[in-house]
Amino acid sequence: MNVELINHTPEPDKSAAHAALTCYSEEVPEKEEMSREKVEEILTKIKKSGHHSVIEHASFTFAVRDVSRSLTHQLVRHRLASYSQQSQRYVDIEDFDPVIPDSIDEDEDAKKRFDELMEEVKETYTALKEKEDIPLEDARFVLPNATRSNIIVTMNARELWHFFSLRCCKRAQWEIRELANMMLDLVKDAAPVIFENAGAPCVRGPCPESEEFFCGEPIQQDGSD
Ligand SMILES: Cc1cc2nc3c(=O)[nH]c(=O)nc-3n(C[C@H](O)[C@H](O)[C@H](O)COP(=O)(O)OP(=O)(O)OC[C@H]3O[C@@H](n4cnc5c(N)ncnc54)[C@H](O)[C@@H]3O)c2cc1C
Repeated sequence: MNVELINHTPEPDKSAAHAALTCYSEEVPEKEEMSREKVEEILTKIKKSGHHSVIEHASFTFAVRDVSRSLTHQLVRHRLASYSQQSQRYVDIEDFDPVIPDSIDEDEDAKKRFDELMEEVKETYTALKEKEDIPLEDARFVLPNATRSNIIVTMNARELWHFFSLRCCKRAQWEIRELANMMLDLVKDAAPVIFENAGAPCVRGPCPESEEFFCGEPIQQDGSD
């Protein structure tokens, strides 16, 4: 998996703080005149008060490479975002190289079965797409969840906060959790004030899950497992 923050709103912390200050000023304030202390003071108040719409003014675009279709299906369930995903209708997967979960990779018998099936998938996909009357959009029906994909995703900071709460949690599936943690590291560098305390709910306080779903090992406040 490879994740790159390819673009974001310039000065995301300041942009969100500026939007917030506009709500409480007679005129639109001068953004450039806002000090770092002022930005921190405003965003801290905003977070406490629940006036979270102001952080929607900061957007972040990621290029996500070499993840499974299983991951992207979970990712695109997050509706307040924009996506552009590699097409299986237009892109011919010439080098079929599936994502392998560690649990399968580390189990000799499981790995053998997985590899055999993937080899069969590869052969069948190739055979189908070589037939004149079978287009790629139909040949792809044999491709599994493990198929590699690339996707561009844009989310604003409010949606990212929500995404991190769900997907950095230890209950989230391992691959999307890995992605969420990588995205969190990237946005923390770009917008340290907005994303201070972002992540699974246990980095901020008690786990909101019921006893049945509590993982028993909350993440520490410094982000370590
Ligand atoms: C551990 C885990 C297990 C899961 N298991 C399953 C599963 O078994 N089956 C399954 O189908 N899904 C499953 N999901 C996916 C889950 O149901 C959500 O589809 C996904 O997490 C997207 O989150 P969301 O709907 O809160 O937020 P987003 O789509 O990211 O939206 C953000 C927020 O906007 C608001 N919002 C968005 N759209 C609407 C709307 N139409 N109406 C009102 N408010 C809206 C809500 O407040 C929402 O929380 C699972 C997710 C997790 C984290």
